[in-house]
Amino acid sequence: MRAFGACDSGSNPDGATFKILKMVVMMAMMTESKDVEDKEEILIHTCCAPCLTIPFLRLSKRFHIVSYFYNPNIHPYTEYKTRLEALKKFAHLKKFTLIFENFDYEYTKKFISNQLMHDEKGKKERCLFCYQDRIKKTVDYALNNGYKTFTTSLLTSPYQYHDEIREICESYANNSGLDFVYEDFRSDYKKSIELCKEYEIYRQKYCGCVFSEFERYLKIKD
Ligand code: SF4
Repeated sequence: MRAFGACDSGSNPDGATFKILKMVVMMAMMTESKDVEDKEEILIHTCCAPCLTIPFLRLSKRFHIVSYFYNPNIHPYTEYKTRLEALKKFAHLKKFTLIFENFDYEYTKKFISNQLMHDEKGKKERCLFCYQDRIKKTVDYALNNGYKTFTTSLLTSPYQYHDEIREICESYANNSGLDFVYEDFRSDYKKSIELCKEYEIYRQKYCGCVFSEFERYLKIKD
């Protein structure tokens, strides 16, 4: 059974100091089932609860699900908190392990300035930069914490660059020795909307970054 608890620091994400705070939330009862213990773990990079509903539904038959919430690119900060709370709610409901890193303001500032450079080349370049960062961080976490298998909930949304996400994950898998589980979850995208209604889980209206929030209104495409 993986350790339960918080580490690094007791920083308050609402306060002036933003430090990375890794927390592992282990849902009670989860390891009581022999059926669950017998399954291999899969670390699922999680962009948000709505996009996780389908990977959870499909992969929990084969794997013990560990959700790794990582996105330094959700704006504004209150939106980040809302999405994290939605994911916590889903984790409690379905009793899976949730790992997240609290908002790191310094990192986010660097991320945004890097992203601005990529944004000048167009939306796609910016998104590819964003995916690279998130998948790399997930793979690093997997390697440092003994996970052998990973995937990403980014494969659920039809609004993402699906083929490129797959390529990035396959490339990191090849270089790291981890197994990447690919499934095209987009076919169940509508079902993810229904599940969010059923579970009363918050569904956001834009991808995350400040650009996507504008684009939601301006309807900017490539
Ligand atoms: S639109 Fe989404 S994937 Fe693209 S850069 Fe913004 S947050 Fe990242």
